[in-house]
Amino acid sequence: MEIISIDAIEILDSRGNPTLKATVVLQDGSKGTFMVPSGASTGIHEAHELRDNDKQRYHGKGVQKAVQNILSISEKLYFREFTQESFDKALIELDATENKEILGANAILGLSCAFARASAKFYNLPLHEYLYRMKHSISYSNKKRQVKPQVTPFANVINGGLHAGNDLQVQEFMIIPLKGDFTYKTRVVSEIYHTLKSLIEKQYGKESTAIGDEGGFAPALSKSKEALDLLVEATKQCGYSEEIGFALDAAASDFYNTETKKYQIEKDLHLDYKELTQYYNELLKEYPLISIEDPMAEDDFEGFMYFMANSLEPKEKNIFSNKKKVLVVGDDLLVTNPKRILEAQKEKLCNSLLLKINQIGTLTEAIQAHKLAESSGWHTIVSHRSGETPDDFIADLAYALESSIKLGAPARGERVAKYNRLLELYHNN
Ligand code: PEP
Ligand code: MG
Repeated sequence: MEIISIDAIEILDSRGNPTLKATVVLQDGSKGTFMVPSGASTGIHEAHELRDNDKQRYHGKGVQKAVQNILSISEKLYFREFTQESFDKALIELDATENKEILGANAILGLSCAFARASAKFYNLPLHEYLYRMKHSISYSNKKRQVKPQVTPFANVINGGLHAGNDLQVQEFMIIPLKGDFTYKTRVVSEIYHTLKSLIEKQYGKESTAIGDEGGFAPALSKSKEALDLLVEATKQCGYSEEIGFALDAAASDFYNTETKKYQIEKDLHLDYKELTQYYNELLKEYPLISIEDPMAEDDFEGFMYFMANSLEPKEKNIFSNKKKVLVVGDDLLVTNPKRILEAQKEKLCNSLLLKINQIGTLTEAIQAHKLAESSGWHTIVSHRSGETPDDFIADLAYALESSIKLGAPARGERVAKYNRLLELYHNN
């Protein structure tokens, strides 16, 4: 199908920083849009997010150059016959750099996802059906539908690290409902979330129930165990202790000192990777933890290797892995990049992929990353960014890939949009 119109504008993300919205229109009038998210604890190996760096506008965070880049390449994309793969390839070639620094990964992703939405309309398919066909290389005109997959939310209900103003070094404390379908799991997450709020209010005062960037609470805690104890109590009070696992995103690159090679995991606790592994093992012994994301810094391969070999089995049966093993999730480590995934597989650095489409910049490459992960028996968790928009694209993506989804707390419009899209999918299918 051919593109007849492309547009882009600068809009705001959930932190009030600029991002962009791209629009693609096809010859039959099918129109697709996409609003690009943005991270705070970004991996240094992510594809390049192009910002204007003009301190006079939005403190340098404007994206007018990326918008302009979209508009200026549009002429080169009109009236050519494209599939999703050939469109993404054309974008990669127009940029022609390893990490998409000329056009910007934000500009490229905007176009890639807007094109997917327009194409799905062209073929009269819901977005998740289009993405499912893309993953499995099934013809878009094939009407056979995918079977209803089980998507599990990883819900970040206590925020720390760069997403909150407290002293928790671990960035995310998540709950994972392990039973039932998505509709039931959402109810469980919401009930625990509200009970957690009452608990925090009772123990730390009303002023401690303010929320962080991803909708989780951000009380003035400083120790991981204080946060995990709150999760245990909230889960117990709701009667869900038997059906909840916990997950952490340590985002350890953000508290790693590259000179001393020590991790400041708590205010007065500076540990090397062996000691940090023991720290996590203590948590694994005590809490129903089944997943730890970025337990070590992005380039500390020795640390990741050591953690993979020496981490304890989780207390809970891990439904995501056929081995008795905690999920060791690579986010900053892998940056959704097939090359880094291959390296991690070779060196046994982790066993799960956090998939963020803006880390790599095109849908084709993101799906390639997922298929690579799957081929090694890894679990995939499609993920939002801390700076989000109301766009619910990743809900369809998780459904299509039959993966889990990391989507924050069931609060704040940009987070709830993803829950609600999945609720709709489970209602309709
Ligand atoms: C994360 O680190 O997994 C995350 C969602 O945060 P950010 O978008 O800030 O990288
Ligand atoms: Mg992360």
